[in-house]
Amino acid sequence: MKLAFIGLGAMGFPMARHLAKEHEVVVWNRTREKAERHAREHGSTLAGDLAECASAAAIITILPTSKEVDEIVDQLLPHLKAGTLWIDATSGDPNASRLTAHRLAEKGVVFVDAPVTGAVVGAENATLTIMMGGTAEHVARAKEILRVNGKTLIHVGDAGAGHAIKVLTNTIMGATVWITSECMLLAKQLGIDIKTALEVTNAGSGRSNASENLLPMRLRDHQWPLVFKLAHHDKDIRIAASLAHQQHASTPMLALTQQLFSGALHQLGEGADYIEVAKIVAKMNGTTWE
Ligand code: NDP
Repeated sequence: MKLAFIGLGAMGFPMARHLAKEHEVVVWNRTREKAERHAREHGSTLAGDLAECASAAAIITILPTSKEVDEIVDQLLPHLKAGTLWIDATSGDPNASRLTAHRLAEKGVVFVDAPVTGAVVGAENATLTIMMGGTAEHVARAKEILRVNGKTLIHVGDAGAGHAIKVLTNTIMGATVWITSECMLLAKQLGIDIKTALEVTNAGSGRSNASENLLPMRLRDHQWPLVFKLAHHDKDIRIAASLAHQQHASTPMLALTQQLFSGALHQLGEGADYIEVAKIVAKMNGTTWE
């Protein structure tokens, strides 16, 4: 099948690589050199221009936010043909994606939101979990394509539902990283070695991805690599907070998490990794992770 893949960032680059093993994949990226490298190294085809993507049977986008996706939709709309499937793997805003689905439907293009979880390593190893929103028929089409990228593909509900659950699950992760950091650093202040505190936590009911993997990895390697931009994580939690507001939901923990992450982003800057919020927790307590 001819696919167009738009957005060769940390996630998109390896995802498009796996797709190119089974399909004819045309790649487009804002910074053209990345698309050239992809075509050179992974057997994809460089799109001459963005409009060329419209000739594919399915278009896959994975961009920072729904705003950039809509800018691409604006540019491609005049060229799109009925029957095309648009899969948006961005962690987007469900309200925006439902509007996008309507706009595309006017051209006979069907939309499935299919955000992913599992980090860059999951994209590299094709072990992502992919949560999908759309009709059963359209999601089945999208699953047939994305099965090479993930182990677990779940139809969540109508268009936008995938984006909704994605930001909620990322909010849980953010809150967990923060509370685990607070408690591990408090353990240190109480004279307990952090590694021992993590060992106990992981043998008990406080364990999570933060305590089992994310924090121990950084303590072991003394490195805080950029794997998922804090700016993206903050965006997800802000979308979750806006959904809660829209539903008149009582979500004080979510609201607090949003406030903490936005504050951390101001302090750490756009270039920070999401786990670096743990450094802010240390700073707030006059201590360090060393
Ligand atoms: P990156 O910042 O690594 O890549 C972003 C991509 O979007 C790049 O290809 C970039 O192009 C392109 N882009 C940015 N702005 C524009 C624009 N205005 N017009 C066109 N293209 C643009 O992001 P990630 O791959 O990390 O994340 C992408 C999405 O996936 C986000 O929604 C994120 O929340 C989500 N996600 C990320 C995970 C991770 O661990 N990294 C895990 C799960 C989901 P260029 O190369 O020119 O900069």
